Amino acid sequence: MNSGSNKFEHYLTLKERISILSAGTKYDNCNQSSVCHAFGPDGRCIQLYKTLLSNNCSAECIFCPNRSQRSAVKTSLEPKEIAKVTWSLYRKNTIEGLFLSSGILGDPENTSYKQLEVVKLLRDEGFKGYIHVRIMPGSPKYLLAEISEHANKFGVNAETTSSLNYSQLCPNFDYKNDILKRLKWTQKIIDQKRKTNYMNRTIGANDTQFVVGALDETDKEIVTTMSDFMKKYGLRRPYFMSFDPVPNTPLENNYPSPKWKELRLYQLSYLLKDYNFNLHDFDPIFDEHNNVKNLDPKELIAQNKPEYFPIDINNATLNELLMIPGIGPITAKKIFYSQGIGCEADLKRLGISVTRARPYITLNGQSQTSLKSFMG
Ligand code: SF4
Repeated sequence: MNSGSNKFEHYLTLKERISILSAGTKYDNCNQSSVCHAFGPDGRCIQLYKTLLSNNCSAECIFCPNRSQRSAVKTSLEPKEIAKVTWSLYRKNTIEGLFLSSGILGDPENTSYKQLEVVKLLRDEGFKGYIHVRIMPGSPKYLLAEISEHANKFGVNAETTSSLNYSQLCPNFDYKNDILKRLKWTQKIIDQKRKTNYMNRTIGANDTQFVVGALDETDKEIVTTMSDFMKKYGLRRPYFMSFDPVPNTPLENNYPSPKWKELRLYQLSYLLKDYNFNLHDFDPIFDEHNNVKNLDPKELIAQNKPEYFPIDINNATLNELLMIPGIGPITAKKIFYSQGIGCEADLKRLGISVTRARPYITLNGQSQTSLKSFMG
């Protein structure tokens, strides 16, 4: 495998290298600033310094700006440089932790070793912040175990839904061996850590990312794979990245995938994980090509199940409350454990979106509006 143009690297200042490698994490689903928001294991939104160790990748994934054969300014940061920047931002209260990914620096073992160096340096110096490491495909088991001693979250990107698709997208790696096997390992490590105290550190669930729309796989295939991963590998919050063609890559002339798909896929992941919905509930949200419609999936599902509605809010089970648009896991519990809901104002006080919920509920035997008329 051949590396892209490196001729300018010696002339780059540290600041320029930091900026290039932070921007490179855009393809790990974030914005281009060096600080981005992520969700911690407790669901709280936290700010992380997000960087690549290197964009000088030896692999040739056909959608990726860091691929070996693409000519671009390629650069790297030393583990101690990343640790220093992380500390500096952390001490200024600009960040609460680090997200660390990378292109493959030579081979997965070498790259994972450098990732380990970063997290060890930080922890050895007493860093108590959150650390999320994006593991390399093919990363060796012993390094994965060592990284897990220091990180709060780690996982490998699946990118797609099958071995065949993966061999097209990432020809240097094997889906079953380099991805699925690693997801199984990380899941085992996480399970073990959760049984122990894990040095008072919070451990996140298994983690992966899908690229949406780079190949001709359908959204339904992505959702089915996500559901499968939740069962098999304890995946909780997958990441989605809409495909955006990168100049000078084999897919540069392909159409971008609309950004709104990310939102719809995230919503479906929440419905699966937090609302107890099943894959078969999702039929109405797919169009005739098995791609998601750009409409609120929970509303579509509710409109497709008129036999369940309206739901009597004061006599509903938690599961029934979760089916109602405008009611989430927290507000469902508030209703369930309340002394009883007397009027819409009570619902508003609990933080419920009454406008969305109204067509699907009854309060004290009174329908708030007819579901039939709502559906037209
Ligand atoms: S291994 Fe990662 S960084 Fe390298 S080309 Fe593939 S997706 Fe890009």
